[in-house]
Amino acid sequence: MVRRSFIYAFVLCVLVCGCLNTTLASTAVVPRDEDMVVESRAIVMGRVMELSTGLDASKGVVFTYVRISIGAVIKGQIIESEIVLKELGGETPELGTMIFGMPRFEEGKDVFLYLNTWPDGSLRVHQGFLGKFDVTRNASTGRLEIARQEEGPGVEVMSASMNTTGTGDLESYRARISGLVEANAESAARFEQKYYAGVPVHSVPPGFDEDRAFGQIRPMWALLNPSRPLRWFEPDANGQVVFYVNPAGAPNWDYQEDIRQALKAWSSAAGVKAKVILAGETGGCGVQTADGKNTISFNNCDGYFAPSAGCTGMLAVGGIVRYSPSDTKTVSGMTFYRGIEANVSFNPYALCNYVNRCQLQESLTHELGHALGLGHSSDTSATMNAYAHFDGRCASVRQDDTTGISLVYPGGSFGGALTINTNSDLGAVKVERDYSTSLEASGGAGSYRWTVVGGAVPPGLVFAQSGFLYGTPGAPGSYAFSAQVTDSSNNSVERSFSLQVLPPNPAPLVVGVEYKNKKVFGYGSNFDKAAVLLVDGVALDAKFDATSVKTKKKAKLKAGVHIICVVNEDGKRSSDFSFVIE
Ligand SMILES: [Zn+2]
Repeated sequence: MVRRSFIYAFVLCVLVCGCLNTTLASTAVVPRDEDMVVESRAIVMGRVMELSTGLDASKGVVFTYVRISIGAVIKGQIIESEIVLKELGGETPELGTMIFGMPRFEEGKDVFLYLNTWPDGSLRVHQGFLGKFDVTRNASTGRLEIARQEEGPGVEVMSASMNTTGTGDLESYRARISGLVEANAESAARFEQKYYAGVPVHSVPPGFDEDRAFGQIRPMWALLNPSRPLRWFEPDANGQVVFYVNPAGAPNWDYQEDIRQALKAWSSAAGVKAKVILAGETGGCGVQTADGKNTISFNNCDGYFAPSAGCTGMLAVGGIVRYSPSDTKTVSGMTFYRGIEANVSFNPYALCNYVNRCQLQESLTHELGHALGLGHSSDTSATMNAYAHFDGRCASVRQDDTTGISLVYPGGSFGGALTINTNSDLGAVKVERDYSTSLEASGGAGSYRWTVVGGAVPPGLVFAQSGFLYGTPGAPGSYAFSAQVTDSSNNSVERSFSLQVLPPNPAPLVVGVEYKNKKVFGYGSNFDKAAVLLVDGVALDAKFDATSVKTKKKAKLKAGVHIICVVNEDGKRSSDFSFVIE
């Protein structure tokens, strides 16, 4: 836990400093320098010589190729004087791919890079933007400085105590990293053996020279993350934007509900006209395999995320992996390009960061914002800010997010006064059973924020700012609380709610048994209708009411001692009851 708070402190510092680049990042937990050193296959300094793009025909998405002239190799076996990186995203005249969180390159710029490889051995930057540092000369001191992202020099990050460097003096950073390479040589070798055994390191991606010679890969001057607005055109004709989820590797709770909450946060934002729905499951997965379906997945089936050991790095990526540069529409005074397919992929190496559903909901909301066409916001309170907040907002959006999404999908209206639609009586829940519900509001100016203003929710439950009430109640009782919803114009209304937490069912009790006509009859109390009857440890098909049970089929039991036991639906079981057949 100590380490997590360090990471959060660092993130907070960057946010407070206000030096965050606003368009490049994706949701991320910043890794320690040591993790970056161990996990990367090569660390180099060099200069960006050329950018080019090409469609990977086997995947149906666009990659950008970055040629780097090598100045120094700090880690790894690179002996060539030039290397070519292969990064996901870019644009050809026919098709574009936009993924947020990618490193962005400009020709002629000096860079300090942590690299790993795709499964085919092509080099790429480790952990997206987190593995790329710009090298610039400080005009006042004349010294070279490094900076993650593109913010200017002068950001003070206490790297000595945090073990995470965001900016600093190049010479001392390089010395520090060289020292870490030496000190971590053994664990780096183990990491390489575990995750990259048999994977080559190609200084140039296989097929690159041929594709370039045949014009399949074209030079480009544009940046990797093109500044073109993307959106879906379906909502304009009252159509839906439809997502599917791949259940493989998904968190062990009702993640489909979490996805629906995240989609609702966008489609119900004030002034937004966009129906976005979860339509069901799919076998599709990953971010870079285009199959025509908008997909949310957790299993990294395409190897997009490189291994990382420390529960840090990119949490997820999302983006519009196919769009049409030739199909445009002017909305809110901007020219938008038509989205064709969006994918959201969660990093299994970083799933350990999600300690509850609320955090997953925030990341889902952020990534689905990308999938709907939004980039990163420089407003640090926005859900579309590059760094996760994990502040209990769950699936909710802020004023800045609402402004953005309502410009991309204008036309929705919010009629009438701010109203709470959920009835006061929230019903009953059994103690120690998972529970979730969502308080709903409508009207007003949208972008709702919920708080408890009186009483308290049952212990074990969490009430999120999105109105999502979830958790496992720990104590039976009658609970009452008042919840207030506030819209973005600071109108608010409140309502009192009640929720019963019922005590656990008593365990079943067996007090007698008869064996007649080759059937077993049990008598007792607290039997569930869906209970299971065990006779000598074997479940027999049986019919229950609250005080009796009988087997449905005849079964021959031998003379001697037998044992029966009743197991209720909640797992509570009776004591063993033994009986004798003469
Ligand atoms: Zn992002």
